[in-house]
Amino acid sequence: MAKRAELFWNKERVMYPNTSLYIDGGWRGSAAGRTLEILNPATAEPIGTVAHAGTDDLDRALEAAERGFQTWRQVSAFDRAKVMRRAAALMRERGDNTARLMTMEQGKPLVEAKGETLAAADVIEWFAEEARRTYGQVIPARAPGVYQLVLKEPVGPVAAFTPWNFPINQAVRKISLALAAGCSIIVKGPEETPASCAELVRAYADAGVPAGVINLVFGVPSEISEYLIPHPTIRKVSFTGSTPVGKHLAMLAGQHMKRITMELGGHAPAIVFDDADVDHASKILSANKFRNAGQVCVSPTRFLVQQKVYDSFVDKFVAAAKAVKVGDGLEEGTTMGPLAHARRVQAIEGFVQDAVQKGATIRTGGNRIGNKGYFFEPTVLTEVSKEARVMNEEPFGPLALIAPFRDFEEAVSEANRLPFGLASYAYTRSAKTANAVAAAVEAGMMSINHHGLALPEVPFGGVKDSGFGSEGGPEAIEGYLNTKFVSQAGL
Ligand code: NAD
Repeated sequence: MAKRAELFWNKERVMYPNTSLYIDGGWRGSAAGRTLEILNPATAEPIGTVAHAGTDDLDRALEAAERGFQTWRQVSAFDRAKVMRRAAALMRERGDNTARLMTMEQGKPLVEAKGETLAAADVIEWFAEEARRTYGQVIPARAPGVYQLVLKEPVGPVAAFTPWNFPINQAVRKISLALAAGCSIIVKGPEETPASCAELVRAYADAGVPAGVINLVFGVPSEISEYLIPHPTIRKVSFTGSTPVGKHLAMLAGQHMKRITMELGGHAPAIVFDDADVDHASKILSANKFRNAGQVCVSPTRFLVQQKVYDSFVDKFVAAAKAVKVGDGLEEGTTMGPLAHARRVQAIEGFVQDAVQKGATIRTGGNRIGNKGYFFEPTVLTEVSKEARVMNEEPFGPLALIAPFRDFEEAVSEANRLPFGLASYAYTRSAKTANAVAAAVEAGMMSINHHGLALPEVPFGGVKDSGFGSEGGPEAIEGYLNTKFVSQAGL
């Protein structure tokens, strides 16, 4: 038996905590005492609970966020950055413990969980520093003695909704952007994976963020969004999750004229041209396909491979899929954990059955593993009909769909066939092809000859049905700022 990675890293066992709400600077149960059970996806056994907020709790959070905003907006960007940097240091200091909680509740391998925890510290620091550079402008006036000033102001209290696939990574961007810009925030965290997200909020709280500036709630997602989004206190909505839910929340926000950032689903094309380094492409793409068991919005999904290298790419990719070590994320050597919850297992089984009925060939995988926990085999399908559901809906699981193409036009036409436009990938040795494919594919992001997405300093977001706005780079902060124009004369 593999040695437990938790023992390997740190000789003590970690207890999984019950997660409370964090409202107005205090950790508390829900007013009605409601809780929900948390299951470990590797065993499907309960490991703890999370408090479920009702409207009384949300009202307290809204009042706190309003007060928190008035306090925090008065703190200079320079001093806000100091507090944020302390939070980043705490995330690093507590990284081992937080990573283990994440693996216990979400399933991903401990190494990935640790990477996510440490990356959060980088995100906090980068946005803290960037907010110090939210410069306004002085626009030359037409008349003497007139000053035309463009000022940036925080938009106000934010309602954010974050998912279970990256319990910290999705929340840290929204919280850090809000705080850097001078906003307060109510986060509805992921109900399936609350404890690691709560550790992020704890780091911020322990770093000295004033009461009310960050509030963390869990509950029934639709109840919370329908209560918070229309509420007059909330001035901005940020959501990461599926396209249908994003469209619903964007509609709700639109009815109340609230600013939005929407990070929604994808169905990323990965185009491998004849002149690519096929060894390199299959290695990088397979590693990224099976990372977090494919439950990643930028996961490569439709592998479009030019005819000359198709067979060799399929062979190498299948070999890489077979080499993935599926197991409990806490075990040393595991490279892919279980799916995060039972809904995903059902969804992936359904996608595979439907594709096979419509003529797909299973090159490897295709089945659930065992009957305990939510494990699924790394799966490669070829000859998949464009009518198959999986060729049209985001699989969000360890499914790779590989198809050959003849020429550039055919590849681009397939890449752009779907309404999604989040991530895309291409492999080629030709600078001309690289430039042409980057221009032709309708996507918010393209990574060529490597996997280079999602760093804090670069834009992160989609076009078309994949969303609106960015959660990375300098433009991300703009989403949390209002522009005010002041024209001043006669001093
Ligand atoms: P889902 O669509 O029910 O939920 C997705 C996320 O949205 C969850 O975090 C959930 O809490 C939240 N949500 C759902 N309804 C909501 C509402 N009315 N108001 C506010 N938040 C709401 O599906 P699921 O089973 O949790 O996940 C399945 C699909 O969601 C996946 O197939 C994938 O497409 C998508 N998803 C995308 C991301 C991403 O990073 N873009 C993350 C998680 C899930």
